[in-house]
Amino acid sequence: MSELLVTGGQVLRPDMTIERADVLVSQDSGDIVAVDEPGTLGGDDELDASDGLVIPGLVNAHTHVAMTLLRGLADDKPLDAWLQEDIWPVEAELAAEDIRAGAELGLVEMIRSGTTALSDMYFEVEEIADAVDQAGMRAVLGFTAVTVGKDDEAARSDLRESLDVARKLDGAADGRVRTTFQPHSLTTVGEEYLSEFVPKALDDDLSIHLHANETRDEVTPIVDEHGQRPLAYADDIGLLDGDTYVAHGVHVDDSEIDLLAETGTGVAHCPASNMKLASGMAPVQDLLDAGVTVGIGTDGAASNNDLDMFDEMRDAAMIGKLAADDASAVDASTVVEMATANGAALLGFDSGRIETGANADLAVIDLDAPHLTPAHDLVSHLAYAVHGSDVRHTVCDGEVLMRDRTVEVFDEQAVRERASDHAAALVERAGD
Ligand SMILES: [Zn+2]
Repeated sequence: MSELLVTGGQVLRPDMTIERADVLVSQDSGDIVAVDEPGTLGGDDELDASDGLVIPGLVNAHTHVAMTLLRGLADDKPLDAWLQEDIWPVEAELAAEDIRAGAELGLVEMIRSGTTALSDMYFEVEEIADAVDQAGMRAVLGFTAVTVGKDDEAARSDLRESLDVARKLDGAADGRVRTTFQPHSLTTVGEEYLSEFVPKALDDDLSIHLHANETRDEVTPIVDEHGQRPLAYADDIGLLDGDTYVAHGVHVDDSEIDLLAETGTGVAHCPASNMKLASGMAPVQDLLDAGVTVGIGTDGAASNNDLDMFDEMRDAAMIGKLAADDASAVDASTVVEMATANGAALLGFDSGRIETGANADLAVIDLDAPHLTPAHDLVSHLAYAVHGSDVRHTVCDGEVLMRDRTVEVFDEQAVRERASDHAAALVERAGD
């Protein structure tokens, strides 16, 4: 039996209090075994958390991790033009090895910034699952089906693949990988395909992850064509009948907020992407007040442009206040909860809290820094002042992914070089 002791630090507890404690984790079960007063526990190995704060590993509830290859390729355009003119032509050239290289880069970036779990939407999902396996992280993965611009055969093939990938990869990486059925969005997958394939996903008890209500341009065509709001349309098709979460949920009206709450549908809020693409401000406080589970995601690196969940917490608090026109909205402890416990609930992992019996997924923040001084309120610091680069150690499933700022699960330099090479070759191919 191998046990790891995270010792000498302060610990963020599930009720958002901070206490001096040591955390003992089992590397066999991957669970937290005990949280107790300093000096009372012992392990086979130790992680030094002195001058540090132990927090649950952050959960990135919506991303496209391999899109790190497109970071900084095209900025400062609205969603539609950005996708059609810049992103999709390059994505059309993506080969499996590119996706592997981009995924590894994104996972290294996440480990360095204290993220231990992600929910990803993309293609070549086996490559991403293998990268997650090597990273030692947890992930909910899936193949994203799009039917617009495709003939019937290609459209069906996409949706079948989304079902097949979800069935096949669930439980991969010793159970750290789970899957979802993924229609890309309500406007990029035709109604006839949703009506045919969503019941199959529900029959198989597959979770569902899709983009919804991201921009006004996604709302208007559905209202025009179907005479109802997008989420009412989604509900009629059965999309909200299962274990479903939608990415974005920016342009949702009161009836849709109620519908999300009634159906237990979660939202992965992506504040930086919504701001960068000028998509709008999600009514996060209204969603939370209605009882909707809201997590936080970075979205892809091309629309962010990093995968740092501390940036994302700060952005979520800021834009949440603007959207509510109320400085008390989406407060510090709320965003920390969104990035930890809420995200874990959306993804279906028993993580997101430092508590005996929970998954041993955690990060240790180095508090010995000018921008974290003084320490009136460490929850405030987590929301507003900590950067991803302040993370000293990252642990997932009881295993050390990063120790003293050195990533142990990848050769970081090699990952960066490979990603740079693949990105350069990709852009050159797309330009030909
Ligand atoms: Zn997205």
